[in-house]
Amino acid sequence: NPCVLKDFTLITPTAEVRVRTHGGRAKCLQRLIRLGIPTPRTVALSFEAVHEIAEGGRPDTSRLLSAFGRTPLVSVRPSSADPDWGGPGAVLNIGMNDERCAELSRTLGKDVAEAIYLKFIQAYAIEVARLDPEPFEEAAEADHPVQAALAAYEAETDEGFPQDPAHQLAEVLRSMARAWEGVSARLLRQARGAPIDAGLGLVVQDMAPGLGAGESGSGVIRMIDRITGERQVTGRYKRKGRSGSKRDIIYLARDPRGPSMEQEAPALYEELVGILEVCRRRLREEMEIKFTVSQGNLMVLDAVKVDCSTRAAVKVAVALAEDGILTPQEALLRIEPMSLTELLHTQVDPAAKRDVILKGIAASPGGATGQLVFSARAAQTSASHEIPCILVRRETTPDDIRGMHVAQAIITERGGMTSHAAVIARGLGLPCIVGASGLTVSTRDKTITTKTGRIFREGDLVTVDGSAGEALAGAVPMLDPALDGPFRTLMRWADEVRDIGIRANADTPDDARMAETFEADGIGLCRTEHMFFEPARLMVMREMIFADCETDRQAALDQLLPMQREDFVELFRIMAGEPVCIRLFDPPLHEFLPSDREGMMGLAESLDMPLSRVTRRVEALSEFNPMLGMRGVRLGVTMPEIYDMQVRAIFEATVQASRQAGAAVVPEIMIPLVSAKREVELVKTRIDSVAAAVRNETGQSFDYRLGVMVETPRAALRAGEIAAHAAFLSFGTNDLTQMTYGLSRDDAGRFMGTYVNNGVFHEDPFHSLDREGVGELLLLGAERGRKARPDVTLSVCGEHGGSPDTIAFCRDAGFDYVSCSPYRVPVARLAAAHLAI
Ligand code: PEP
Ligand code: MG
Repeated sequence: NPCVLKDFTLITPTAEVRVRTHGGRAKCLQRLIRLGIPTPRTVALSFEAVHEIAEGGRPDTSRLLSAFGRTPLVSVRPSSADPDWGGPGAVLNIGMNDERCAELSRTLGKDVAEAIYLKFIQAYAIEVARLDPEPFEEAAEADHPVQAALAAYEAETDEGFPQDPAHQLAEVLRSMARAWEGVSARLLRQARGAPIDAGLGLVVQDMAPGLGAGESGSGVIRMIDRITGERQVTGRYKRKGRSGSKRDIIYLARDPRGPSMEQEAPALYEELVGILEVCRRRLREEMEIKFTVSQGNLMVLDAVKVDCSTRAAVKVAVALAEDGILTPQEALLRIEPMSLTELLHTQVDPAAKRDVILKGIAASPGGATGQLVFSARAAQTSASHEIPCILVRRETTPDDIRGMHVAQAIITERGGMTSHAAVIARGLGLPCIVGASGLTVSTRDKTITTKTGRIFREGDLVTVDGSAGEALAGAVPMLDPALDGPFRTLMRWADEVRDIGIRANADTPDDARMAETFEADGIGLCRTEHMFFEPARLMVMREMIFADCETDRQAALDQLLPMQREDFVELFRIMAGEPVCIRLFDPPLHEFLPSDREGMMGLAESLDMPLSRVTRRVEALSEFNPMLGMRGVRLGVTMPEIYDMQVRAIFEATVQASRQAGAAVVPEIMIPLVSAKREVELVKTRIDSVAAAVRNETGQSFDYRLGVMVETPRAALRAGEIAAHAAFLSFGTNDLTQMTYGLSRDDAGRFMGTYVNNGVFHEDPFHSLDREGVGELLLLGAERGRKARPDVTLSVCGEHGGSPDTIAFCRDAGFDYVSCSPYRVPVARLAAAHLAI
């Protein structure tokens, strides 16, 4: 039931052309025309028209072509609402046929005319008639390529090559319209954020071939470097060769490497730069323009926003705002928050060659190259020789921390987004791949065997691209991080508009310095157990765990006390008056003990104990479900001496830091894994008595704020009565997700892929907050907490805290802040600003 298509529009300054109906390219061409920039005559087909064509509608292409004069040659290009959604490739020189070829041979020479015709036959055969490319590639090598290509076309289709320009155009339009509606094209653009019903417009444009006597050629030009954003004219100009028909490629701006347009055709160069300046001011964007020159006459065929790196995009947006072309708020909206991670880390050069050896979950961004090592000890040895290394483990345990600290990147065979390796790596800002599927790690043989059977050994050079979740063989070119002036300016603008706090999860003074660098509004979660992972401290910790009696345990704790105190003094000093929220000890004790025989023997030796006693103690501490067992406040209630020591260290540090700063420090102390009000009461009583003792001993008064981590479903449900004892509630969405789903955060990586692929979960709930389930507990807990205590401070400190989606959720729910790993802080600050604009 074919219909006759009416809906095409000659683009003039006043024609009705909108991005919404005709796509970005059509609209941009209209803007160029309005700015008086020379552009070839162009007709736009609306989304509706193109959809009709895909459905079998027949456009009146004879009428369409009549807009272009008697014997036109035209091009067709896609025009979707967003250029990132892709689209079919352009088809050029429609209208070429035997007659036109003969005609052009007379004006441009046979070689040029036949080259154009050949290219068109090839494009038409492959893209439009969908024929096998091979015969046409062979034809190009023949003595008479055009004749050979025409013959190949006839042999493949049993029809002569279409000579009627209107027929050619109709077929091109039909093929492009249908390509857009194909399943793979649709999936691809949806993955890039296009809505299901995203439309395609097409623009039909008079060819301005860039041929003829005098200065002729074609090229692209932009005014910035696409990687750095520096102002610098780049691009290329293919100039019709002075000798014969061959074209020379010359530089645009003056260049020591060879001839340039600036030197050889300065007027043309000035004209182009002038056009780019006009585009920048009036289109409010750095544009890249495609142009042709025919006998000295310039035509701009198309203009698109320069496709540039995030670093360049930040520089461009800030410069546009500083020049008064954009408002600072518009500049903020130009930058996608997540893309900032690209600036904060060393990055694998996107232009680099990639020999991918394994893929996994992209657990922590950035790029690093090093030699493979398979144990923390080997990593330390490597570091002591100043050899960069990549630590590979099946999964990591606290024993590996010292290795992680000195490694350049981490790969684990197992684990998901919140596994130990992933969390630590993000905190340290190290590139990390976890759950590397299909990989076999043998720590004994010190090898990894990839899915395809390639074997890599200790000492082999490998590059980790943590942003892509891929490891590459060998060393690969890198780009440095870019916390430059424009970045800082953009962040300052973000802080001026955002209305939710962004704190950092920072466990050690090093982390705190990172938090300061990224200008967090304080520390939202200091996981104090991470302070015990240094070798010397780990030993004392182990002595504490092995203590037979309270006196011995106290002796070990007395040794830990000054170490913790020093850390806290440092944290308070670095954060200089910003809030610091310290979480009391959380993990099960067995995490501090070795898990294999070799480790236990080492421990027996250093503790001067029989091995049997070590194994007995390890066994005694082992639990079937350690994440649901003796950890968090449960340890605090049953072994209160640990919390006593920590709290004393915090208060003594408070006194010391307040004296040093000359201003009162008010620490925030947070209790993990609470599920009952009584737990809070028990801990609070002891904290208050330690506070009283320290006040007495030092003769100095101080305040502190007590808070509770809401990370069990019961704590969310009972938030009302819990808030009666808590000045703040911080939702630990890692554990809360684990417990709401009954899903182990350390093991879920094994089947998460299958679950997401089958649509059981939209996304990994450890990665992106489950608004429906976990989110409901957040809202319920917030509401009940607030009802009991209207001034209660609310926050999220799980790994979700740094994701723009969680920030939006928390802001809507009126939370005070989110806390995320230091490297996520800039992303979170910008995301929060976007929400407030
Ligand atoms: C949490 O559970 O969300 C949390 C922040 O604590 P951890 O990740 O240390 O268990
Ligand atoms: Mg937790």
